[in-house]
Amino acid sequence: MTAEKIPLAGVIGSPIAHSRSPLLHGHWLRTMGLPGYYIPMDVMQADLPQVLQALPKAGFRGVNVTLPHKETVLQLADVVTDRAALIGSANTLIFRSDGKIHADNTDGYGFTANLRQNAPDWQPESGPAAVFGAGGAARAVIASLLELGVPEVRLTNRTRQRAEILRASFGARVVVYDWGHASELPIGAATVVNTTSLGMVGKSEFRVPLDGLSPDAVVNDLVYTPLMTPFLQAAAERGCTVVDGLGMLLHQGAPGFERWFGQRPVIDEATRAAVLAG
Ligand code: NAP
Repeated sequence: MTAEKIPLAGVIGSPIAHSRSPLLHGHWLRTMGLPGYYIPMDVMQADLPQVLQALPKAGFRGVNVTLPHKETVLQLADVVTDRAALIGSANTLIFRSDGKIHADNTDGYGFTANLRQNAPDWQPESGPAAVFGAGGAARAVIASLLELGVPEVRLTNRTRQRAEILRASFGARVVVYDWGHASELPIGAATVVNTTSLGMVGKSEFRVPLDGLSPDAVVNDLVYTPLMTPFLQAAAERGCTVVDGLGMLLHQGAPGFERWFGQRPVIDEATRAAVLAG
């Protein structure tokens, strides 16, 4: 009889040193008293197929996937969930016992769970959503907003063509605005989300006039370094409920952790502190 292998999981990307996922999963393993390890792995694109073939044999139950591999893994997976196919990328792989690789995208789940936890009165269906940015993260955010019944997603991006591509994927509830007209998006919006990388430490500030934004609106920034971005600060000064981006990172990790290590983790202040301490 062979002993049960110690469960392993990890995150694959390149570069990977900045990833906070090892801190997150390490915290959950420790505080929940579960056996297992979660390992950061710097893998080049050319090596990805071989690495994904080998990992299950070494005891890996799955991995998170980050830049630049989130799109490529869809081609390498045997089963792709509907939401990963819709978003066009995967961040969570499950290595099934039948040898098949199952690819999912939990970014949209993380986005929604973060807002539900930190803005419990949020009613996404009560008005339009304003989304700034049309990169990979925006796809997950828009898919979630539409699923939640948002009547209209107003979308703007510096490169308009990327926003038009999202409109073509997601349909007529997405309305594209010129980046030069960004100030029109928040007017009367129930939900406002910055999905650009502007506002991150080391990048230019994300500035958009918030005139016309109702204090009832819920405002979220996907950037979490710093936690309170100048954009969130400006929205808070208008009386809006503001939600930082860290919770999305924490919540997107929970479904994978449960599949790999067998228990659903909680996301609380201690989880935030553990990830911020790194
Ligand atoms: P991405 O695919 O590279 O997209 C970057 C977005 O930022 C694009 O819309 C891009 O516009 C815009 N942008 C970059 N520099 C700009 C500038 N100088 N002026 C105007 N727009 C600019 O990246 P992503 O994966 O979507 O990530 C976007 C942000 O979300 C990052 O800060 C990332 O850390 C954060 N994020 C957070 C979480 C979380 O869990 N909280 C999850 C995913 C992502 P163009 O198309 O014109 O280049």
